[in-house]
Order: sequence, then C-alpha cells, then structure tokens
Amino acid sequence: MSNEVNPFESLQEQIDDAAAYLEYPTDVLERLKHPERVLETNLSVEMDDGSIEVFKAFRSQFNGDRGPYKGGIRYHPQVSRDEVKALSGWMVYKCAAVNIPYGGGKGGIKLDPREYSDGEVERVTRSFAKELRPFIGENRDIPAPDVNTGQREMNWIKDTYETLENTTEPGVITGKAPESGGSAGRVEATGRSVMLTTREAFDYLGKDVGEATVAVQGYGNAGSVAAKLIDDLGANIVAVSDSSGAVYNPDGFDARAAKSHKNETGSVTGFEDATEELTNEELLTLDVDLLIPAALENAINGDIAQEVQADIIVEAANGPLTPRADDVLTDRDVAVFPDILANAGGVTVSYFEWVQNRQRFYWEEQRVNDELERVITNAFDNLVKTYERTDAPSFRTAMYVVAIERVVNAAEEAGIWP
Ligand code: NAD
Repeated sequence: MSNEVNPFESLQEQIDDAAAYLEYPTDVLERLKHPERVLETNLSVEMDDGSIEVFKAFRSQFNGDRGPYKGGIRYHPQVSRDEVKALSGWMVYKCAAVNIPYGGGKGGIKLDPREYSDGEVERVTRSFAKELRPFIGENRDIPAPDVNTGQREMNWIKDTYETLENTTEPGVITGKAPESGGSAGRVEATGRSVMLTTREAFDYLGKDVGEATVAVQGYGNAGSVAAKLIDDLGANIVAVSDSSGAVYNPDGFDARAAKSHKNETGSVTGFEDATEELTNEELLTLDVDLLIPAALENAINGDIAQEVQADIIVEAANGPLTPRADDVLTDRDVAVFPDILANAGGVTVSYFEWVQNRQRFYWEEQRVNDELERVITNAFDNLVKTYERTDAPSFRTAMYVVAIERVVNAAEEAGIWP
C-alpha cells in the first residue's frame, strides 16, 4: 500500500470533483466533508502472560442524515484516525449510492490479529465493544465486519453489548454467524455486488464478459468471492494475489481451486495451476481486460496507473486508487467502476440482515441474492443515466453526484438545528 496519500483527503477531493456537477453552495457541501464525531479510545487489555497492552481504537460517525450510522470495524496495524474518517465518509456515499436508509460510520483497532492468540483477540474485541456501547445500537450506529474481522468478532460484540444492556438486540451489529442472527448470503455479498457491477459494466460498454481476462489483487473475502462468481460468468481468471505475492497463468485457472490452495497453505503463492509467480505490482499492470483491486486503499498510485493495461477496473476494495491514479486513468480512458457501487453488496445485505433481525423473520438465500441484484442493478442504471446526463468525466464522479444529491436532500428536509 502506498502512503503517498491521506485517504481522508482523497475522500474530500472526490466530493469536490462531484461538486462541479452539482448546484449547491459551498457551505452545504462543506458539512458533507467532515465526520460529525470521532471516538478515539485506548483499550487496556490483559495478555495471556499477564502483562497489559494498550490498543488504539476509533469509531467515526460521519453523517446520519439518511439513517443510523453504518460501517465495518477493521483490525490492522495501519489503522489511523484519518483512515477511519475516510472509510466512514465512503460509507455515507455508498449507502446513498445504492439508496439504502443508512448514514455512514467506520471503526478500527490498530492491531495485527495474527500476532495475538484467539483469547487475546477476543478480550480486545470485547473491550472495544464495552467502549462502543453508549454510541451504538440498532437505531443509532450498527457496526459490521471489515478487513481482518468476521462473524467471530461480530458475535463477540453482539454478546458483549446484549450482556451489558441486559437485552436481546441482534440488529446492533451485522455480519454475524447465521446462528447468532446473521443473514443467508452475507459472506458472499460483497463479492456478489462486484460480480453484478462487472456484468452490468461489460454489458453497458458492449463487451463480452465471457471473453474477459481478469486479475484480482487481494484474495480475501471480497476478492476471492468476486473471482469465483466472475469465473462463473465465463470470464478467465488469470492472476490473483495476496500480501505474500501474486500468481499468474495466461491461460487462466479455477478461482475456487486458488482459494482452496490459499485456505490450505495460508497464501496464493505456490498455487499448482499457476505458471508464474509475480510481484504484487506486476499483477496490477498485467495486460488483462478487467482488474479488480480487492486489498486496501491506495493500492494504485499515479505511477502504477500509467502502467495499468486493463480496460476496465471494478473496485472491490474501498479507496484503492489515489486521486492522482484516478486522474491518470480517466485521461487514459480506463473505465473505473467505483467502490461505493461495486462493493456495496456487503452493506446492502447487512441492511437485509438488520431488517430480518428487527422482524425476527429470516429469508432464504435466494431472496437475499434476488433483492441484492435488484438494488445493485437499479444503482447501476442510476449511475449511467447520471453519467450521460451530466457528462461527468468518470463513473466515480457520476456516482458521487447521485449520492451527494440524496444526502443533501435528506439534510435539507431535516433542517439545521440548533
Ligand atoms: P480480507 O482481510 O478478507 O482480504 C484482504 C486480502 O488482501 C488478503 O488476502 C490480504 O492478504 C490481501 N492483501 C493485503 N495487502 C495486499 C497487497 N499489498 N497486495 C495484494 N494483496 C494484499 O478483507 P476483505 O474483507 O476482503 O476486504 C478487502 C477490501 O474490501 C477492503 O478495502 C475492505 O474495506 C473492502 N470491503 C470489504 C467488505 C466485506 O464485506 N468484507 C465490504 C465492503 C468493502
């Protein structure tokens, strides 16, 4: 990951780019560029050897005009206040882009969970849940998984919250295991919306996805599910990577087999159906039809963008392009389909999970997938209509125009008080 750019400044620049296509005064837009509040806390947690370690943790509540704050919790050594602020802002515009009734939030703990035992990770998680308790709730702020967190952590947070509140409130958090109130289809939802965006994008651009070659950077939850479902569309997955390196076979390989190899060995490297091992940067500049960045923000900077050979980029990760990379790719006519649409499947099925939790009535997986398809294809239609109407330079700017209009309308209806 390049540290060339502060992701919070990237978010603000994206809003400014869209502002040129909106007729709002600057003061109206200014308040959409800053979080409403950020909780910063230091968690003191007992380690297995009896020592105490302190972990920095954040929760940013960016904007609640369209509904409760919503967004994941990330465990990563690079978590910072500005990263969490940026991610919470992207959640506001993502929920608005796909028109689900949430604002945006995000949290993170500065922690590499691989360096700690399961018991230590559980105590850190429950300690954060205790700190979050006054700020979250099914009508207030609803966390979810993100990088290095999953069902296990969500179940712990739900249990801690419910125990302290002496209640049952599964809708306080989403991304839970099905037995704890999770939704069918949630684990695959982010990759599924990446697939749906890819399918619609190829169709819109008059290209055949069945003929496409695909490289995927980051083979975790979002990337590996996207690869599997795009493989099912008939595309040819030719390269995948994770933090250990990249593997390549110009003739393609089975995305599921690559995932099984990663599950067994911990990494995609050494995958037997690959013919070459590449560096992570080499994967990004392969001559493919579709590139899917699915790792972390700032993966593609301006210099790498000059070398990218893909015709289409569908962003599975949040903020994988720096603003400079975005400009370079726009100039080079690379079609970039933005994160706030492409990876919105995660938060959309989180919304379905929350609806099911509140109704205590659970849906079959097919219903979840059908409703998700409806949300993403509607959002895609709105995107291309706005792209054509505004003549915006990129699909990202057009998607922000759609999203900002929705947030501003909700804010104006509510008014400013006090
Ligand atoms: P994950 O931890 O499951 O996977 C991340 C993957 O990226 C891992 O395989 C890791 O090894 C790899 N990686 C890290 N650095 C890399 C590098 N420099 N080069 C290549 N690979 C690298 O996380 P995830 O949940 O799949 O999230 C990935 C991205 O998708 C993040 O930006 C996240 O915010 C976004 N996202 C995830 C969800 C979700 O529901 N999981 C929803 C929306 C957005």
